[in-house]
Amino acid sequence: MIAINDKGYYGEFGGAYIPEMLHPNIEELRRQYVQVMEEPEFQREFRMLLKDYVGRPSPLYLAERLSEHYKVTIYLKREDLNHTGAHKINNTVGQILMAKRLGKTRIIAETGAGQHGVATATVCALMGIQCIVYMGAVDIKRQAPNVSRMRMLGAEVRPATSGSQTLKDATNEAIRDWINNPEDTHYIIGSVVGPHPYPDMVARFQSVISEEMKLQLEQHTGRENPNAIIACVGGGSNAAGAYYHYLNETDVRLIAVEAAGHGIHSGESAATSVLGTKGIIHGSRTLLMQTPDGQIIEPYSLSAGLDYPGIGPLHAHLIASGRAEAISITDEEALASAYFLSRREGIIPALETAHAFAALDKMQYQPEDVIVVCLSGRGDKDLDTYIHHFDRFQKQTS
Ligand SMILES: *Cc1c(COP(=O)(O)O)cnc(C)c1O
Repeated sequence: MIAINDKGYYGEFGGAYIPEMLHPNIEELRRQYVQVMEEPEFQREFRMLLKDYVGRPSPLYLAERLSEHYKVTIYLKREDLNHTGAHKINNTVGQILMAKRLGKTRIIAETGAGQHGVATATVCALMGIQCIVYMGAVDIKRQAPNVSRMRMLGAEVRPATSGSQTLKDATNEAIRDWINNPEDTHYIIGSVVGPHPYPDMVARFQSVISEEMKLQLEQHTGRENPNAIIACVGGGSNAAGAYYHYLNETDVRLIAVEAAGHGIHSGESAATSVLGTKGIIHGSRTLLMQTPDGQIIEPYSLSAGLDYPGIGPLHAHLIASGRAEAISITDEEALASAYFLSRREGIIPALETAHAFAALDKMQYQPEDVIVVCLSGRGDKDLDTYIHHFDRFQKQTS
């Protein structure tokens, strides 16, 4: 049975390792989150926004030409069709409603590539709540279009100028802000990471993905369970949502796809399940990439959303216990699969999502199997990267 315990552990992973000064904020959230989420009025508002604002349910699409190529039945769960182009909005809609119920009037968030920052700025505009997004100064330069989007939506983007000036430094700044503003501020974390109760709260908000999948698969195929579900894992929120209602259905294989960057052992990768060891990062005990004396190793992936040195504690547990199978995909393999999906189905996936599709080349399955791929986001944000490598892949896939 896979479930979180009341201290926030999945097996030996999870918990809340936080500075004393954050204790009141986390404790307030921990005491209230389940109760708030189960209130009928909260559920009514959450469901209404998912339907009319986000555009749910997202379709479950039978990808016939892709199925023909792989000689197996493949369905795509179309999170790319959500408002703002990915699954992240499911979580930010849930958390902004949570913040309102807790009486908060100010939102902070951290962002790397800017996708979570945009999803947070979006729901803050929707609710008329002040929004401050911390972002590494280097990332602000690299991700200019998303910085513009956040500003257009009324958010303030604050540069983090310490360390490598990327995601982990932005996270540190956000935590510092929260310590200084415990009364009025809610911190919207963007994945199933961080101290308890964040991993469980975010997984519950994203669980709408597998809730819909069950109904849609029943309608399409006459049974609720596929043989396998494939999802990419950065922190692990789209995967957690796609797995959630299947965690204890052991006939369903869960395939977690990580970024191998230039290759697992190249020194430039983000393949945490292979390279990671047990340790504490961002408030939870999980698997992370670290040196023997506990320094975090800078991760690398061409895809900004998978470029994270840890994984959420749920995924650490699923992989360590053998419930989920981990597959690592390099930049090159992900690019090739992005070009292939574009030509084969007329769908340009996010570069993160392209990693999930590349796993189809690496896994074993039977011809009668039904496989669902969680299509976590669309590729508009990655077009510059795709075009940069275009000539090389043009030859391979035409
Ligand atoms: C952010 C992002 C991811 C990675 O985040 P998870 O929390 O692992 O889901 C994956 N796909 C897309 C499209 C993203 O924007």
